[in-house]
Amino acid sequence: MTKQKKKAPVSIGDQIELQIVGLNHQGEGVGRFHSFTIFVPDTVPNDQVIARVISLQKNYARALPEKILKPSPFRIAPFCQHYGACGGCQLQHLAYQQQLQFKQNLVADTLKRIAQIEIPVHPTIGMANPWQYRNKAQVPVGVEAGIVQAGFYEKRSHKIVNLASCPIQHSANDETVKVVRQILQEMGISIYSEANHTGFVRQIMTRTSFATGDILLVLVTNGRRFPQADNFVQHAREKIKNLTGIVQNINTKRGNTILGPEEVTLWGNHYITEKIGLLQFKVSSRSFFQVNPLQTEKLYAKTKEYAALTGQETVFDLYCGIGTIALYLAAQAAKVIGVEIVEAAVKDARENAKLNHINNAEFHTGAAEAVVPKLLQQGYRADVVVVDPPRKGCDKTLLKTITIMQPKRIVYVSCNPATLARDLKYLNENGYKALEAQPVDMFPQTSHVECVIEIQKVQSSK
Ligand code: SAH
Repeated sequence: MTKQKKKAPVSIGDQIELQIVGLNHQGEGVGRFHSFTIFVPDTVPNDQVIARVISLQKNYARALPEKILKPSPFRIAPFCQHYGACGGCQLQHLAYQQQLQFKQNLVADTLKRIAQIEIPVHPTIGMANPWQYRNKAQVPVGVEAGIVQAGFYEKRSHKIVNLASCPIQHSANDETVKVVRQILQEMGISIYSEANHTGFVRQIMTRTSFATGDILLVLVTNGRRFPQADNFVQHAREKIKNLTGIVQNINTKRGNTILGPEEVTLWGNHYITEKIGLLQFKVSSRSFFQVNPLQTEKLYAKTKEYAALTGQETVFDLYCGIGTIALYLAAQAAKVIGVEIVEAAVKDARENAKLNHINNAEFHTGAAEAVVPKLLQQGYRADVVVVDPPRKGCDKTLLKTITIMQPKRIVYVSCNPATLARDLKYLNENGYKALEAQPVDMFPQTSHVECVIEIQKVQSSK
């Protein structure tokens, strides 16, 4: 059967007038022109705009706004001076309440469109103050006319723009980046050139604990030999209040991966200690940790509620990072078992269990899709499974293994509604039923969407 091809009602270069009616998953405005979908960046729902078509695909076109004829009541002035040039935030020009609404709608629409799943999606849990929430900054370093730059890549280029300040960062991260940039300049430490793959310092990374104020500084370098290390440490310690550790991470590979496999602690601790609820967590430079500690607590509280533990259960925490969810649930479970692919994170997880006097937790290193089938073979069974995969979602082998293991509940923590929908479709077709969804705003001002899903085993009638 061949589908009748409809001709697009626009051509490249056309100037069109349209009303923005929604946002796509990247936070770009969506309008319709004679029923044809047009994406218009930098617009918000209810804007009336004139836009020029710049590209055309089979089912949609992209157009750049040329004039806002009538601004939406939801449009606000972006707070940050770098907004637009820096790719970090996408929604600063949209009122916060509408950002939350957008995230709720996106989860509901994506589940319906990709998986034909219609479940209650609750209003997004937002922040009272949706700024200065990030505990980690990671910025590339470069040189422009002899002056060290540290900030962000200009859109669609690798030119580094100096960051005056980043309003979604904890102010200590902001300050640390500026001070380190100045020290690098004053000491004349060589700076990496991406084009030539020469020079020494590539990136500055900082992690600040919201609980203690401690700061970890990581200098990513293109090589191990660092003759000025002692001097650098001395300057950094003098100038950065609350600094508790400096780590040199060595990354000699070309490309966009930020951290390399080898590290040297130049001074102090190689981790910070953060608190979630009543628990403490050591977080080292290479381990994943949620970037928004305040919202993490809300996310985990929802996860706990959906896990509905009685104290008798064995709980799997898959993609467990430094073991935070497993340890958060341990007091209500008979046993918790975490699986994580990054070895340094598993090491942190084991230490975190000790730090919190938790004795019913064990952690396994490896890909969940490889480890869980082995655990099943060895006779392990889970009553409740929590998964919290990266953006690409769960591996099919893992989902299959979970359905064979038949836990009574699954809690899916997702940072990408599209892969979530794909995975829920599989679970829904294999003996499970998604009951409800709770979006939590972990990344205010950006188009990133996090949510938790409650999933139950369907009682078989046999
Ligand atoms: N649940 C944790 C971490 C979630 S982030 C928390 O709330 O902090 C996802 C984690 O999955 C990361 O730590 C990443 O290293 C890990 N990961 C990625 N692919 C994996 C895989 N195939 N198997 C197991 N872990 C994986």
